[in-house]
Amino acid sequence: MPPPSDAPTVSLVVPCFDEAEAFPHLRAALEALHDVLAAHYRVELVLIDDGSRDGTWDAIQAFAADRPWVRGAALSRNFGHQAALTCGLGLATGDAIVSLDADLQDPPGVVREMVAAWVAGADVVYAVRRSRAGESLFKLATAKAFYRVAGLLGAGHLRADAGDFRLMSRRSLDALLAMPERHRFLRGMVGWVGFRTAEIHYDRAARVAGSTKYPLRKMIRLAADAVVSSSTVPLRFPYYFALAASAACLGYASYLVGLHYVSGEAFVPGWFSLMAAVMAFGCLNLCCLGVVGEYLGRIYEQVKARPLYLVRDAVGPPVPPPAGRP
Ligand code: UDP
Ligand code: MG
Repeated sequence: MPPPSDAPTVSLVVPCFDEAEAFPHLRAALEALHDVLAAHYRVELVLIDDGSRDGTWDAIQAFAADRPWVRGAALSRNFGHQAALTCGLGLATGDAIVSLDADLQDPPGVVREMVAAWVAGADVVYAVRRSRAGESLFKLATAKAFYRVAGLLGAGHLRADAGDFRLMSRRSLDALLAMPERHRFLRGMVGWVGFRTAEIHYDRAARVAGSTKYPLRKMIRLAADAVVSSSTVPLRFPYYFALAASAACLGYASYLVGLHYVSGEAFVPGWFSLMAAVMAFGCLNLCCLGVVGEYLGRIYEQVKARPLYLVRDAVGPPVPPPAGRP
């Protein structure tokens, strides 16, 4: 039975990069979720192909062909998960928008609970991982360290153990989409947006098929974006270093003066201590420059103001003009 025409719309947004292997499973799971949600809501699915090199886009097109509730867009190349997700969130027209991964690590069954929390008044519903199946020890350890270090470095709005599996109300998503930063770490940005939040706890499943699309290189880039985009604490490191170094130098100088005047020791020109000091300060300078470079590079990218992604092809119903949306 179709929902009443004034029923709110729930959008599901799924970024896909080389997910041809997982797609048949995803398709079946999303269809089942659609059938459950469609009893009360209008359902919209937005699939973004993030420059896949396998048959993902063909699979999306075939899926969208006879389903008016499915919309797809293919980006002109691989722009990365956060950009692909931003594209999908921008195309979604729903009143509640849920983002989830294509590999079914975010169990679609949890979406019903998230929608219930939204109906009960929450603007942002985080799906928080109680456990993570099928992840390597390395991934588990780095994920844990990441949230801890990011918290220490001032990325304070981050909800630990909540990935990009979440529901956002229209108004909270509009606030997020109005944030123009290039290096996007959506989890931190959603935390900054605020509004009323709720949490659903779930057990994270293992990837249904295929392999991770987040190699270490991409994880490190995401972690750097997470810290630099939501905190300026690292820029203050040079002060801390300078304070510590000044205290050490002052202590050492007092010690030398004491040695000279109290015990009458003559100064021996110390090659080693000189070299050690030069090297230590050289390293410190480079570290500080590196920190400044991280920010400067991002400022440069931001000032260039290139689009976050380019769409090559689209399939499904056209996107209505963003009435009332920024
Ligand atoms: N993804 C993407 N672009 C990328 C990398 C990943 O759109 O450059 C998508 C991927 O298809 C999946 C989601 O982002 O739907 C999460 O990626 P993955 O499951 O590989 O990451 P992991 O769970 O291993 O951290
Ligand atoms: Mg995954």
